[in-house]
Amino acid sequence: MVALGLLALAPAPAPAQGLDRFLNIFRGSQPPAQTSPAAAPSAPQISPSAPGGAPEWSGESGASGHPLMTADAIRTAAANFRTCLEGIWPLAQKRGVSRATYERHVLPLTPDLRIMDLLDQQPEFTKSFWDYLDILVNDERIARGREMLAQHRAAFDGMERTYGVDRHIIAAIWGVESKYGTLIGERPVVRSTATLACIGRRQDYFREEFLSTLEILERGDVTADHLKGSWAGAFGPTQFMPTTFKRFAVDFDRDGRRDIVDSPADFIASTANLLKGNGWVPGQGWGYEVTIPQGFDYLLADRSRQLTLTEWERLGLRRAGGQPFPRSTEKAYLLVPAGARGPGFLMLTNFRVIMKYNPAEAYALAIGHLADRLRGGTPFVQAWPREQRPLTLTERTEMQELLARRGFQIGDADGRFGPRSRAAIRDFQASMGLVPDGFATAELLEHLRRR
Ligand code: CA
Repeated sequence: MVALGLLALAPAPAPAQGLDRFLNIFRGSQPPAQTSPAAAPSAPQISPSAPGGAPEWSGESGASGHPLMTADAIRTAAANFRTCLEGIWPLAQKRGVSRATYERHVLPLTPDLRIMDLLDQQPEFTKSFWDYLDILVNDERIARGREMLAQHRAAFDGMERTYGVDRHIIAAIWGVESKYGTLIGERPVVRSTATLACIGRRQDYFREEFLSTLEILERGDVTADHLKGSWAGAFGPTQFMPTTFKRFAVDFDRDGRRDIVDSPADFIASTANLLKGNGWVPGQGWGYEVTIPQGFDYLLADRSRQLTLTEWERLGLRRAGGQPFPRSTEKAYLLVPAGARGPGFLMLTNFRVIMKYNPAEAYALAIGHLADRLRGGTPFVQAWPREQRPLTLTERTEMQELLARRGFQIGDADGRFGPRSRAAIRDFQASMGLVPDGFATAELLEHLRRR
């Protein structure tokens, strides 16, 4: 699953896509979590494949440079689409998919080649961490979320009793993934996953998604004409991938179908079941906004550095707003997403659980914060360094190359800043006598260029 709806990042018809790509920058280059579709996907789409004015495949080679993403390779695979699908039939049959289901849903398919452009999209400009939060956590989404919590109170009550997951977190996921179900995507999941299973650089991954989609159609859990979603195949108000459906979907309203598209009880409980299965700790929040003292050693702000809240307090961290930590023995890591001039956050186990839904810290922080706001909590206390502009893709890649040239380990220079790039930036800052907060600014890029 990935996120989002709404952001007018780019021209109107691809808002979600833009946001999703934004997330990828924060996600780094590690493989996606098991619930997450691919390097990119699943943002709810505003139907680029819909007839009438929908964008067609560009006909160009993908930016990844992968041999299966050249224009020729895509054309060849598209010409072989039927044969490829027929080759998958025996695997479907082994899973109990009937020939009738296969003929009805798979034989009429044509490939949706526009997805190849989306699979390799790398936008040059991106949003900052705070712009992203502003867009996802706003008054409208808070008000609507509270309405949803009231309207579906019985389902949320039952879900909390059964799974022990905080209702505000589930409502926040619903709000962020699909704006409470209003933006769930319009691409037939069977067509998207069939396309990706036969064409492009993620075929092995998507063959499994395609087969799971066929199992859903065979069982009739979700009606075929409602099994629509993002270009990567995430569907329903909380954007489940087909394999995630297979592992975690539940029939909470007991009508015999696990309908995570049209039954709020089913998708609320299924989303909770997913979080529980990924290690949700009942009764624990996601984390806390904290203030960080002058002279603090920012090298401690590292995902691998887990200390108890008491230990962090000893290092001078305080809860923003002044209240004490309710459970001081909980362990947390320190995240400083916008450097020493922005707010800090101590992240508990449940923050990592949310990141399994979508492996981007900006996403997980938006979920946690929206949940707090739905509960009646206040906005963050500290200001973001809004005068800083986000680096472009070209600049991020240049920064990685300059760091690598100086012997810092950054992995691939792909313009995505994951934990490794952040660590390299911190090491460089420390070597220069700067505050090692790991925040990539235009100023820091200038430093690197000069030396
Ligand atoms: Ca049901």
